[in-house]
Amino acid sequence: MGHIFVIAEHRNGEIRDITFEMLQKAGALAQDLSCNVTAVLLAGPGETFADDLAKWADQVLVLEDERIKTYDSDFYTGIVAALVKEQQPLLTLMGHTSWGMDYAPAVAARTGYPLATDATDILLEDGFPRVIRQMYGGKLFSRVSFSPSAGYMITVRPGAFQADGAGEKSGEVVSQTLPEGLESPRREFLEFEDTAAGDVDITQADFLVSVGRGVGDADNIGTVQELADLLGGTLSCSRPVVDKNWLPKYHQVGTSGKSVKPKVYLALGISGAFQHVAGIAGADCVIAVNKDKKAPIFRVADYGIADDLFTVVDALKEKTKSG
Ligand SMILES: Cc1cc2nc3c(=O)[nH]c(=O)nc-3n(C[C@H](O)[C@H](O)[C@H](O)COP(=O)(O)OP(=O)(O)OC[C@H]3O[C@@H](n4cnc5c(N)ncnc54)[C@H](O)[C@@H]3O)c2cc1C
Repeated sequence: MGHIFVIAEHRNGEIRDITFEMLQKAGALAQDLSCNVTAVLLAGPGETFADDLAKWADQVLVLEDERIKTYDSDFYTGIVAALVKEQQPLLTLMGHTSWGMDYAPAVAARTGYPLATDATDILLEDGFPRVIRQMYGGKLFSRVSFSPSAGYMITVRPGAFQADGAGEKSGEVVSQTLPEGLESPRREFLEFEDTAAGDVDITQADFLVSVGRGVGDADNIGTVQELADLLGGTLSCSRPVVDKNWLPKYHQVGTSGKSVKPKVYLALGISGAFQHVAGIAGADCVIAVNKDKKAPIFRVADYGIADDLFTVVDALKEKTKSG
């Protein structure tokens, strides 16, 4: 029986969400392919992640070593490539994260397996994987097929799949020794430096009022902040707002900012690039205001208003004050 590899990601003592998202999708694919899911964990000695992964996989392969306590590009490439060559999984899923973008192409080059990156969906056609990817900032979807191979590799976009529940499997945990002949790493991990926590925690907010580049100018942030205050919401933003120094980094939602899970996410002048939308996958209700009715944000919005954000902000303020 073939199997699907999912390469786990963890940071600062926690398994990252992308791991469970990939395991959820791998489980669905494995059912259709009648094969098993193997989570592959590279960790420091004594880490306790394997039990969490066992709830989502038929098998957890654990490779423990002080040198892989934290991510290292050379070790990950060497170890994953050796495991893939040895065990020949039909599919290998890796996160389309700073890790996966770094080591997945190197693993593909070493194994000769074809790689499709940044999958937002994985389909099966006649038993062969097909990958859906977005192009032009989410305006087009492409369907990617692979040249025939013994195995295929895919990096998966964070937030593309939902990991529901706590996992219902009880996979076998198997310790594996590190492959021999690993190259010495060319860099050294020093420390994690977290972004400043700031005076608001957008990850805990129930109602986020979020501004994008469409707000136009730093001076216009004030009127949106007023609306947020009136509605009891917390201000968040897209990355360009931070890049332009209109708001501090701790307000930023998205793949290089924070993932949020509010009950309501009000997006004002945000186009809906995937790096942003990945951060709001956990929102219960998304309301988008954008003057471009074809903006990609409307694809993920539960409610959409195609209008100038300032008209909507003023109207909401008026209504709240009078109401
Ligand atoms: C590695 C990497 C990581 C990234 N990480 C993140 C991240 O974590 N978070 C993030 O947000 N982005 C991130 N980005 C950037 C991302 O690709 C987009 O560029 C960004 O999300 C766009 O922000 P925006 O929607 O505010 O701006 P734009 O894409 O410029 O959209 C502005 C929108 O405002 C609308 N608009 C303009 N004026 C008005 C008005 N008066 N009223 C109503 N609507 C109006 C426009 O129609 C447009 O749709 C990342 C990019 C890379 C390459």
